[in-house]
Amino acid sequence: MKIRPAALAVLGAVLLVAGAPAQAAPAHPKTPKPAAAAGHVALPKDVAPERYEITIRPNAGALTFAGQEKVALVVKAPTDRIVLNAADLVFQRVALSGQAAAPKVVLDATQQTAAFVFPTKLAPGRYTLSIDYTGKIYQQASGFFALDYAGDRGKQRALFTQFENSDARRLIPSWDEPGVKAVYGLTVEAPAGQMAVSNMPVAATRTLADGDQSVRFADTPKMSSYLLFLSVGDFERVHRMVGKTDVGVVVRRGRTAQAQFALDAAAELLPFYNDYFGTPYPLPKLDFIAGPGRSQFFSAMENWGAIYYFDYALLVDPKITTEADKQNIYVDIAHEMAHQWFGDLVTMAWWDDLWLNEGFASWMENKATDRFHPEWKIWLQTKAGEQGAMRVDARVGSHPVITPIHDVFAAANAFDGITYQKGHAVIHMLESYVGEDVFRAGVRNYIAHHAYGNTVTDDLWREIDAVSPKKITGIAHDFTLQAGVPLISAARTAAGVRLTQGRFGADAASKAPRAWRTPVVVGGLGEPWRTVVRADRPATRAAGADAAPLLNDGQAGYFRSRYSPELEARAIAALPGLRPEDQLGLIYDSRALGEAGYAPMSDFLAVAKATEGVQEPVVVRALIQQLAGIDDLYEGRPGQGAYRAFARARLAPAFARVGWDARPGEPDNAAVLRRTLLTTLGQFDDPAVVAEARRRFAGLLAAPDSLKGTARQTVLQIVASHADAATWDQLHALAQQATDPTDKSRLYRYLAIAHDPALADRALALALTGEPRPTDAPDLISGVSGNYPEKAFDFALAHRAAVEAMIEPTSRTSFFARLASGAHSAAVLPKLDAFAATVPASTKGEITKAKSAIGYRLEVIAQRLPEVDRWLAAHPG
Ligand SMILES: [Zn+2]
Repeated sequence: MKIRPAALAVLGAVLLVAGAPAQAAPAHPKTPKPAAAAGHVALPKDVAPERYEITIRPNAGALTFAGQEKVALVVKAPTDRIVLNAADLVFQRVALSGQAAAPKVVLDATQQTAAFVFPTKLAPGRYTLSIDYTGKIYQQASGFFALDYAGDRGKQRALFTQFENSDARRLIPSWDEPGVKAVYGLTVEAPAGQMAVSNMPVAATRTLADGDQSVRFADTPKMSSYLLFLSVGDFERVHRMVGKTDVGVVVRRGRTAQAQFALDAAAELLPFYNDYFGTPYPLPKLDFIAGPGRSQFFSAMENWGAIYYFDYALLVDPKITTEADKQNIYVDIAHEMAHQWFGDLVTMAWWDDLWLNEGFASWMENKATDRFHPEWKIWLQTKAGEQGAMRVDARVGSHPVITPIHDVFAAANAFDGITYQKGHAVIHMLESYVGEDVFRAGVRNYIAHHAYGNTVTDDLWREIDAVSPKKITGIAHDFTLQAGVPLISAARTAAGVRLTQGRFGADAASKAPRAWRTPVVVGGLGEPWRTVVRADRPATRAAGADAAPLLNDGQAGYFRSRYSPELEARAIAALPGLRPEDQLGLIYDSRALGEAGYAPMSDFLAVAKATEGVQEPVVVRALIQQLAGIDDLYEGRPGQGAYRAFARARLAPAFARVGWDARPGEPDNAAVLRRTLLTTLGQFDDPAVVAEARRRFAGLLAAPDSLKGTARQTVLQIVASHADAATWDQLHALAQQATDPTDKSRLYRYLAIAHDPALADRALALALTGEPRPTDAPDLISGVSGNYPEKAFDFALAHRAAVEAMIEPTSRTSFFARLASGAHSAAVLPKLDAFAATVPASTKGEITKAKSAIGYRLEVIAQRLPEVDRWLAAHPG
């Protein structure tokens, strides 16, 4: 699954509070117990399904469906009951082969289980369980759900499913756990003329007495329930044979042109993955299905053979798709395709090891993308996401990458930046430690040995250690079984350089000592110096008196780098000549160390000055984002004017190069940089930039096709954030008139970003009118939270029932917590405490994390901004 970018960048979720008590000599984490031994809540293991035969008859208009199911199962030990998962289902008939009497049905709505209790014990053996039942079709993207859109035939409705982590139980009574694999034989009864799509190709179609069609799909391989997929709608499919696989993109009628980019991407990626994993893609077809809408939880889902995306994450329309969107689409396709092996063919045994799916796919998406689009510099771009994870990982509220999941309800909270981005960073570090070829050999063996089965993380480390001269299990445990960020410090000794390891923490609890074996590469001393640094074992090496060591050379390591003042000055002086990844390292580390008080803020300001001549768009963009992040802290405080003058001076050279208009043949990343540059100058209220955006907006109103893609989104964003009431009304009219779902979503979102508080109020009110589509409305509230976190949070709480109804149940707490998390005032903290008392226990960590983000921000504002002000006063210009 691909989680929403907002969830990654801002917060995501948390399960455990990380603050272990301080100890003098921290120990390395031990091998984890299997999840079952750790006592999670799961179904009894004495009955196991082998094959489900399911017929679903949706009534799309009524938002209900009827289901008939026959489960071939094995009773392994005598028992008087069969317990499985079911949620929001109503049973009409339940029967078991060989049993004359119907069982008693005991439903547990809280645990989402159904127990079928028999008068006498069932003997071990094979049985068939038959169930007739009915269920609901939802209007938020979980379970079986409907998305409405304006089609050629007026308002139309398409149906899709979304089951990860545990919502298959809303479509079929099932053993809805990743460790229980079975075969699924699915049939759907759908209106004639509509297309039905599932994991496997259609095996047979027949016409029913009422004129509808019955579509039976081929049996799936053995797989986990969360990977099942069904969709029905007025679709078209474009496809192409790639080797033995029929690769297709399924879109709503009339949109095949928008599917071409995705089809080309999938076709070029599939042979790469077949080779990398060493096991060819095992299903006869691989579809990518687009649905019109959004979710607060996810953007795409790796259902085996039938990958689901929301439109904006799959389709390319030159009018609205930006260069950055295109890159994201490609990366998301690469992500979900990697899951076809890593997750679908081989699956984690329980949600504790979710990271094994997501960290791996988040790493692999870049490896694959970089192969075909090196010009996007995707590895450089991933550093921004890793920084998001590192920020969270340095505060109270983080959690280990491998983290105990008590029950399926807690599992949803594990889809966060630690699981995805720290997971990705750790895999990247381990791969670069053992080498690319060795790592791939281990992965190939892992896939071959566990195909169609379930694993724990140590199964992967074991395969890599088996082929690698350098063993990784100990290092991997240190980085996956405990939270936190190592701090590697470099200082001169009499004859050389000495590296020591501590812990980088933004708050007191996150500074408690931890033991890591940290692989470190140091450049700048001739041949790269490769060593493993431990808290109790510093590393030293001879070096000349004027040596300028470069920590984390290549930036593959997951740690913060700190230099002694003397070495920091040398590193900054060397910055213009460094590789882009190492320039990024200095930018990110100097800001993080400055804000946390490990180094003066002036280091970052000096790095910003030294970056002025850098041309690499990804590095320039990262600098702009850091400068904008500090500007956000000022929020009208007296020093903001001087700070903005400094920041704008840093942006001036890039603006002179990049300007307003695309140059023929420029790299895609130049367009991505241009948008960040212009919208940041807009954020700084640059009068010339705002005026020019308004001039172009007037042109767009007169001739809607005069601005496309990135240029259009840039102008809309700047104009919307500086909108007056008249402009807001014009934007509102554009949103109402838009017919494309992605275009419409974005236009409504722009209504939410006005700085004018009265317009922010109008956007909030609009969210509840029913005018925006139900999946777009929450974005109006989260959009307002960008400028007015407390206002948005208060509004959502005041209309809690209405807002919760618009959000998937698993995302509710995180949605509210994210609204408040950008707050610049302590006043919101007691409100968060009050809110915490009302949410499910398994989601309270979301609020802990929001509070720690706010608390840290307040501290940086109070402690560090005065430092910035003093430095700027002493260094004019
Ligand atoms: Zn994923």
